[in-house]
Amino acid sequence: MQLHASISEVKIGILYGMNLTEVTVSGKKENVKFLIDSVQFHLNQESYTIKIVATHDSLKLYLHDSLIGVAKTFKIEGGNYQTTRLLHPSFKNEKIYRGSILFTGNKGFLFPVNILDIEDYLPGVLEAEVGIGRPPEYYKVQAIICRTYTLSHLRRHEMEEFNLCDKEHCQVFKGFTNKSADIMQAIEKTEGVVIVDQEFSLITAAFHANCGGQTVNSEDIWNKKLSYLRSITDTFCIRQKSAVWSKEISSDKWAACMQKLCSNYSAATDTLLLNNEGSFLQFSRKRDYPLNQNCVIPLKDIRNGLGLRSTYFNAHQQNGHILLSGRGFGHGAGLCQDGAIRMSKLGYNYKSILHFYYQNVSIVHLDKIDFFRFDE
Ligand SMILES: [Zn+2]
Ligand SMILES: [Zn+2]
Repeated sequence: MQLHASISEVKIGILYGMNLTEVTVSGKKENVKFLIDSVQFHLNQESYTIKIVATHDSLKLYLHDSLIGVAKTFKIEGGNYQTTRLLHPSFKNEKIYRGSILFTGNKGFLFPVNILDIEDYLPGVLEAEVGIGRPPEYYKVQAIICRTYTLSHLRRHEMEEFNLCDKEHCQVFKGFTNKSADIMQAIEKTEGVVIVDQEFSLITAAFHANCGGQTVNSEDIWNKKLSYLRSITDTFCIRQKSAVWSKEISSDKWAACMQKLCSNYSAATDTLLLNNEGSFLQFSRKRDYPLNQNCVIPLKDIRNGLGLRSTYFNAHQQNGHILLSGRGFGHGAGLCQDGAIRMSKLGYNYKSILHFYYQNVSIVHLDKIDFFRFDE
């Protein structure tokens, strides 16, 4: 059971990329331990307010304005139910974290790392990534997805000595929260549950806002064929707000984008610009735009180049203008959030929803993976 024990705790690089030079921490002493360069610092008061300032090569620690130490590291060691408040003039509200926080400094900046149980990390992720007021069953779906993502990306910030950052790059995490009882319950009810493929490996549990009626094959957007990210027809999301979009651009802007994507581009051979009413249609999702006989351009590159909501669009040219009418929002692979929310409201359970969007997967408890690993 060693593997399970070692992955119950995650290290999250918090306030990542904010370039903070100082921060104030406060809380109740209770069962907290303060470690200054690993040496325990004993506090007499029942509550504390400590200011941490990064200098070019160390940290200066002030307790109620008097200097208590200069160190390389400062750790507030707390249990799962211990909370620490972080304050900085640039924060709108104080930020609250469970578990322990380790502070290090480098070149005048602070690098705090929150060390906590994965099940205590997930509520903050769900609140930031999904928001409040969603159907309870949908929170179970997202809890399993975010847990699977966390455990399959533990090495994402290995060089910086933590697992994941708290920004979009990994999963948005704004600290401890107990605003939504539905979120807390969904995490508890699915504790330790993850999604694995046929080889019993954790899957890349991709999700996006709205697929527009059809999801994409993983290889069409990431050049990697994954057995569980197959294109499916989804009718659950097509009446939702993000299901359709439109955009009008000039032919010049279109041509400038194509020029960047195709080295010997000529507007004179571009199917869309060729005649006065050229068009490009996707009755079902295509991977590429057939520019001319020699050049096909991946739609994902056009989406990036023109900043489009999705790759699932039709284009019509008329008198030097191109009208794009699209479906969906996001990359389109894996779970469609609008569709999954609709399915939850219609009474589908989290297992049916996950199996609908991810093919040939199993929904298992982590212990089961350990069993298979140890059995090898
Ligand atoms: Zn990251
Ligand atoms: Zn959808």
